[in-house]
Amino acid sequence: MCPTEPDFTILQLYNSDGQQLEAFRPRRKDTVQMYCCGPTVYGYAHIGNLRAYTVQDILRRCLLALGYRLNHVLNITDVGHLTDDGNDKMLLSASAKGKSVRDIADYYTDAFFRDCAASHIAKPEIICRATDHIADMQELIARLEASGYTYYSNGNLYFDTGKLGDYGRLAGLSQIQEEEVLSRTGTDSAKKNQRDFVLWFSNGKFADQAMQWDSPWGRGYPGWHIECSAMAGRFLGAQIDIHCGGVDHKTVHHSNEIAQSESILAPDKKPWVKFWLHNEFVVMKEHSDVTDGNVGHKISKSSGAAITLSDLQDKGFSPLDYRYFLLGSHYRSQIQFHFQAMEGARKSRKRLQQKAGELQALCGKTPQLGNSTEHVAKLRSGEQKNPHMRGFLAALLQDLNTARGLASLWNAVKDNGLSPQEKFEALEFGESFLQIGLFEGAHTGAEEAEIPVSVPTPVPQEYLVLLARRDEARKSKDYTRADQLRNELSQAGYQIIDTAEGPILEKQNV
Ligand code: AMP
Ligand code: ZN
Repeated sequence: MCPTEPDFTILQLYNSDGQQLEAFRPRRKDTVQMYCCGPTVYGYAHIGNLRAYTVQDILRRCLLALGYRLNHVLNITDVGHLTDDGNDKMLLSASAKGKSVRDIADYYTDAFFRDCAASHIAKPEIICRATDHIADMQELIARLEASGYTYYSNGNLYFDTGKLGDYGRLAGLSQIQEEEVLSRTGTDSAKKNQRDFVLWFSNGKFADQAMQWDSPWGRGYPGWHIECSAMAGRFLGAQIDIHCGGVDHKTVHHSNEIAQSESILAPDKKPWVKFWLHNEFVVMKEHSDVTDGNVGHKISKSSGAAITLSDLQDKGFSPLDYRYFLLGSHYRSQIQFHFQAMEGARKSRKRLQQKAGELQALCGKTPQLGNSTEHVAKLRSGEQKNPHMRGFLAALLQDLNTARGLASLWNAVKDNGLSPQEKFEALEFGESFLQIGLFEGAHTGAEEAEIPVSVPTPVPQEYLVLLARRDEARKSKDYTRADQLRNELSQAGYQIIDTAEGPILEKQNV
């Protein structure tokens, strides 16, 4: 391989644990174990949440294109994610709507997957609900307790972060402002260290918690962080290759997941997760009242004012316009959401879609979106030389740079040195990763070309004479003669079809 050639076998990912780009290699040769923090289902996913799952979807498609098999787990948080003022968000949502907590969770879980499907976010291999894994959580808590990592305080069971030398290494907690952590966890006199967190709630601070279970630590419910450690362990084993989530989870939730999961690993087995991937936020300028240096204000579910996919659809945008909008930025950059930018995304997507349709019609082909692995193999071997396909793959393999990937597709379309076939192939390849609906609703020239064009063969004169005689026989009510003529025609391979315009002959398929 020429030294300047990109290496199409390696995916470079920015690992938040270590804060650098690294070549991704799974622990097992051909299978990737991936865990992604899923939605809290007490409300609709907002457009910020959908960024997280869109990034994870792109990662999925890259790993599959590189030939890996995937075990991708997504959890559904249907218990234990509390508001700062101590109310259960699930219960709040349920009582506001006069429904049971289970109804609420099921309703918003379904809504979440509908949004994902509309956004072309593929379903992970394993989807697990927290409430189905309370026993796994209790087992993990018992192991932590047996290893001396827990303490009781004020009736609740806490994880003692003071027992860990490197707690918070992911977030670089030593460098960040202590207040940022405390603003989420609050100052709590029950804690030995302010970073300690509850593994199991059994005291009545949250007396109105709707779902409770018996446990060795009293009747109650799990803390939020334990569910991810428990379910990752259940489905993926003691160690995993990739863990994803939004940047907001890095400081507290993921630091706590690491604390729990690494405490039960032998010291020489650390780290629990090989690669931590964090997507940046979608922020809204409209809500900008910030003093923290961010360009806008983060969109959040708990603010109650978050924009959803159906809000965008109500304004006439397709979910794929939003996907295009998201993919126009690198996942580690914050995105400012505003409707003008959405309008730009919609127009650009439409233009690219039109190009795709024209090329499709010109080439007379049906796009094959499921064979990215074959294309990657040809790019690796050098058999495929299309510079824009090479550029596209190089961009995606360089820390999922979808913005550069999109630029490669536009370059392909504008490149006068490429044949329509080569342009079409570049868009087909790009679409198999980006899934922005380039070939949806486009002019389907290929389908028209595929319909066999049937040029009728003229019926010999002699049979037309027989047909005319049969018609006369019918008119004069000589049905025996009419049937006789029909049989003659049939033996010659012609069928009489009576139409509004009179009888015609059609060649029978033998
Ligand atoms: P939640 O349902 O709030 O737990 O969030 C689900 C996923 O969305 C998590 O990975 C969060 O880190 C991520 N997330 C939450 N808000 C945003 C946002 N405004 N922009 C991007 N990702 C977000
Ligand atoms: Zn999690």
